[in-house]
Amino acid sequence: MNRRLTVAMDGPAGSGKSTVARRVAEKLGYLYLNSGAMYRAMTLLAIREGVSPTNVEELVKLAQSCRIDFADNGQTTLLNGENVSEQIRTLEVEQIVSDISKIAEVRPAIVNQQRRIGNKGEIIAEGRDVTTVVFPNADLKFYLDASVEERARRRFAESKAKGIDCTLEQIKEDIRIRDEKDRSREHSPLQKAKDAIVVDTTDRTIDQVVDLIAEQIISLQ
Ligand code: C5P
Repeated sequence: MNRRLTVAMDGPAGSGKSTVARRVAEKLGYLYLNSGAMYRAMTLLAIREGVSPTNVEELVKLAQSCRIDFADNGQTTLLNGENVSEQIRTLEVEQIVSDISKIAEVRPAIVNQQRRIGNKGEIIAEGRDVTTVVFPNADLKFYLDASVEERARRRFAESKAKGIDCTLEQIKEDIRIRDEKDRSREHSPLQKAKDAIVVDTTDRTIDQVVDLIAEQIISLQ
């Protein structure tokens, strides 16, 4: 009988973890949990409510009172029932999300929601701290990485495909700044868990990474 595994995957922006986690989840019939989308939804809520990224007290209230869910196996993000999948991908959200998610007092409410969604297993969660803080006892952990040049090229191609006006240099700079904030913050920084399998995706295709990870999961089920 198959075990209902909890799989956790962390890595920096553009390392391929969202695409890979979604594809592996589809392949194995697992639930896909995009934890970054939850911090983005929380950020969107703060922008809409006019709450500044420095107003910790109000941000905590927002985090505790909102409900974030996923539909279509993680493709659709729901903020208090509203589909915000598009709005959470804007540059405005992108530029503030790390400032809000670095606040220690905001994180527990979001982490609780992640655990609520993931507690039954058969899940692939991805983000910055899902291997270290959210699911420290995950059955399998991965750390995806790629060179900053390659990560910027991927994000640039995605943005162009969506018709977003930007330059490769601008994207590279945004990624560098967000990496720096996510890695150096005091609480739940992006780091490689001791027991994580490192996968460098720079010279691998998505299909290769999906197969590699799916095989590891299947061998443990
Ligand atoms: O994964 P994504 O790039 O969409 O995440 C957006 C931001 O949310 C990250 O840059 C990080 O600041 C924050 N985040 C986090 N913890 C996670 C996932 C994302 O702090 N587990």
